[in-house]
Amino acid sequence: MSGRGTMGPGDGPQREESEAATTSRLSVGILAVQGDVAAHAAALERVGARAHLVRREKDLDAVDALILPGGESTTIAKGLNRLGLYGPLEAFARSGRPVLGTCAGAVLLAREVENHPVRCLGLIDVVAVRNAYGTQVDSFAAPAEGALEGLRCVFIRAPRLRRPGPDVEVLARVDGWPVFVRQGSVMATTFHPELTDDVRVHAMLVDPSGESRAG
Ligand code: GLN
Repeated sequence: MSGRGTMGPGDGPQREESEAATTSRLSVGILAVQGDVAAHAAALERVGARAHLVRREKDLDAVDALILPGGESTTIAKGLNRLGLYGPLEAFARSGRPVLGTCAGAVLLAREVENHPVRCLGLIDVVAVRNAYGTQVDSFAAPAEGALEGLRCVFIRAPRLRRPGPDVEVLARVDGWPVFVRQGSVMATTFHPELTDDVRVHAMLVDPSGESRAG
């Protein structure tokens, strides 16, 4: 955002204005270890937030909320281990700042994984079943039932979430299965909300109270 390299001292006021405009936007981190980062960044732009890639612990200091994207949870987990990010991510969520995990990100947020184990963060009291829709139906789309009526959910080698605990709200289901859950300020979708034009899930991350959508 530094603009053209030729800006001189005379450009001061203009620069101040643009900095004020950008600093008032919420900064949302996207864990950029592996997976689907660019589409989340575009969705965040559309809800008025600024995307920051998170690769190291110190990157978390600059963000107000965080997305754990889809990808391959085993690969992401290896990266988190290597980078020493399990503890910092857990502390970030426990500080109350909103977190959204999508697909592989949902697997990582779960209490445990029933099959093909990966090390989980344990921030949502559900059990994840990886690749639960089988190999024949790797990808499909279906409308959500529940709070986000009509949301088109895109599933790509998606997990299922089982046994939600008492503190888990199920915000949307498909075929009776929870596909969008929330525990406190931590949310998870088993689908990819960044792959459609409907940005309601990202809007909830940026504005959990829904105030900006009220009017
Ligand atoms: N099957 C992947 C896993 O279990 C998730 C796929 C995805 O994020 N689209 O990690």
